[in-house]
Amino acid sequence: MSERQEECCAIHPPIRCGPEKCSQCGMMGKPVKKITLGALLKAEKRNTIPTGQEEFCFCRNPDCAVVYFALGQILYFKEDLSQPIYQKERQSSSTPVCYCFGWTVGKIRQKMERGDGKRIVEQITGEVKRGNCYCEITNPQGSCCLGNVSQVIAELSPKKSD
Ligand SMILES: [Zn+2]
Repeated sequence: MSERQEECCAIHPPIRCGPEKCSQCGMMGKPVKKITLGALLKAEKRNTIPTGQEEFCFCRNPDCAVVYFALGQILYFKEDLSQPIYQKERQSSSTPVCYCFGWTVGKIRQKMERGDGKRIVEQITGEVKRGNCYCEITNPQGSCCLGNVSQVIAELSPKKSD
């Protein structure tokens, strides 16, 4: 279960989203709450979030421009969000990986070049334990970033997986 690292915080995202697959690319969506859309969309887009619905789907496919969708309806694209999206723009070093504590792809790389990679996860889990994690409203995926942070660290690490 590679998802275990995502279970770090008290926030429990919904487990299902309406239509489970993105109608643009066919990839399974990840459920997110309305509050995530409200927090991450550009201000001028907020009043277009469908009312009477609390859960939406997030498309994680790096090659798909769709970010949020619902009930057979594509709702929002990358350019509708106020933040770059890790899953879709991770080739840019300024893209956040941990949205709560400001770890971008570039900052993780720098830290790892100094041999301090382990400190990153320690710092994040420490903050989470202190209750300082707000991924529901900071992270476009609406849930904790640790799985993504671990993935970036693993990719930047030399072969062995200490
Ligand atoms: Zn998609």
